[in-house]
Formats: sequence, structure tokens, C-alpha cells
Amino acid sequence: MLIDAHYHLVAQEWYPEGWWQSVTSMYLNGMKQLGMEMPLETIRESLIPALWDPEGEALIRDMDAGGIDKTVLLPMDYWVLYGEPKVPLEGQLKAYADLQRRHPDRIIAFATVDPRRPDAVELVERAIKEWGLKGLNLYPQTGFFVNEPRTYRVLEKVSELGVPVTCHTGQLGGAPFRAKYGDPIHLDDVVQDFPNLTITAGHMAFGWHEQLFYLAGLKYNLMTDISAWQDVARANYHKFCQVLRHALDRLGPYRVLFGTDNPFVAALMSTKDYADLVKELPQKAPDGITFTEAEVSAILGDNAAKLYL
Ligand SMILES: [Zn+2]
Repeated sequence: MLIDAHYHLVAQEWYPEGWWQSVTSMYLNGMKQLGMEMPLETIRESLIPALWDPEGEALIRDMDAGGIDKTVLLPMDYWVLYGEPKVPLEGQLKAYADLQRRHPDRIIAFATVDPRRPDAVELVERAIKEWGLKGLNLYPQTGFFVNEPRTYRVLEKVSELGVPVTCHTGQLGGAPFRAKYGDPIHLDDVVQDFPNLTITAGHMAFGWHEQLFYLAGLKYNLMTDISAWQDVARANYHKFCQVLRHALDRLGPYRVLFGTDNPFVAALMSTKDYADLVKELPQKAPDGITFTEAEVSAILGDNAAKLYL
């Protein structure tokens, strides 16, 4: 079983125009930093439109070609930073639900909400109960803490409905996103105050991964995913193997999930190539670092299947 537990299906109208401008400049600078410089026009006219896939056709095609059994879709809500997009959040959530209905064996679609929305609790309740979405994605880097009262109102509802949460953690994204909100330390309160909730810290808390691994050690309802580590895997395979080994040593093999953050980093490494890289760890890891076939199978899909199916 191969499950990508962290994917963002996107359409131009689902995200505010200001966000697309920010992401264009993030790509421009990020690609330069990675030595893959690209002209602004290529990013604007080719790279960005290639991300748009409102019907999920490109996603399903890539899943078929890459042997990916299931993908977890995480919507995003940038309302406070950029205003409402052309299609309000509700429309994006309904589109996710429609896609899940059309591909029930392939797609696991989550809801999202910025807890600062006045109708946050009602929207999440409708998305999960009426439209059938299977979990909640949070992106605190837009400016809220995961352990503040407004977020707790939403988490209380999600806990009552019995679905899992993915919370983006780590220092990804430039301005206007604020890294401090992505510090995994704030999850310490949440996992204790909501013992029935399973929370996946997205991106292995990039930049704070060591803190996350120690924090999560004895918090058995806290998991993590390896999405957006493809640049490290490409540029420094040894370091990637060290970090993943440490994650497995601290959390055990059953709390680490495969994920990509695609389509955003697909230009660096396709979902299939990242899955193959993980699959081949038992054979290819550098001297002194070992992975078992059972660990790899747990990461690639068995853990996500237990959590989501
Ligand atoms: Zn993400």
C-alpha cells in the first residue's frame, strides 16, 4: 500500500490572487537558492499554471503512473492574510468532497479552516458531517497558535466528530507567513488536552525536527509526515537518512507517514521518485544507517492506512 498523506490539490480560483504572487516570488528565490534558476516568465506562465488541477485529473494520472494507491488532499485557507479567493473556501471544500466521491478508493479529502473565521466551527462541522470530508488540516503559519482558545473551539468539534488532524509545522514559506506559529512545541498542549485526537505534524517540523522528535517521543497521539524534505533528500541524502532514522528511533516505526507536499515541490522530485527513494532505503542508505523493509512499508502506507481507512 502506497499512500501520499500530504498533497494539496489546487486551482487558481481557490487561492487568493495575493497568494499566487507570493508563491511566484518564493519559487523565483527558492529555485535560485537550489541552483535551478528560472526566469520569472517561465514561473508565471508555465510552472504556476502547471499546479492547477481542479478536477484532479493530473493527480489521478500521476497516481496511476506512479503506483500511488491513495492520496490525502489538504485544502488551505489564506483568508486572513489575503482575503477570500474568487471561489470562497466553502466552494473549495465542496470540490474536494466531490473529487472524493468520484474516486472513493483513491482520494481521502480533508477540510480546513482558519480558526479566526467567525463561522469556523460550523463550517468544519458541515464539511465533515454533511460533505463527508475525513479530517482537518491546519496551517497556523498564517498567524494563529494551534493551542489558543479560537483553535480549541474547532479542535473540540473535530475531536467530537472523531476525525484526525494534520497540522503544518516548521519554518517553511517566506513572508507573510510567520514561522513562530509553526513551532511544534504548541502541539504539546493539544495532544494532552485532546487525548482522543490523532495529530500529524506536517513536514517533520522542518527546522525544529529534533524538538518534534523528542516532544513526540511519549505522546502517542502525535505523528509526523516526511513531506517537503525532497530538497534535503536530493542535496544531502546522508542527512535525510540520518533525520529519518532519528524520527523512527524516537517515534517508533508506526508514527511516521510518507507525504510529498506536491504539487508544490514536484519540480524537485516527483511523488513516484520520492516514494522510490524511501522504498530503496534498506538497500541504499549510507554505511552506519539502516532501515528495515518493515519500517519502509509502515512509512509508505501501512501507517496511513491504519489512521485513515
Ligand atoms: Zn503542505
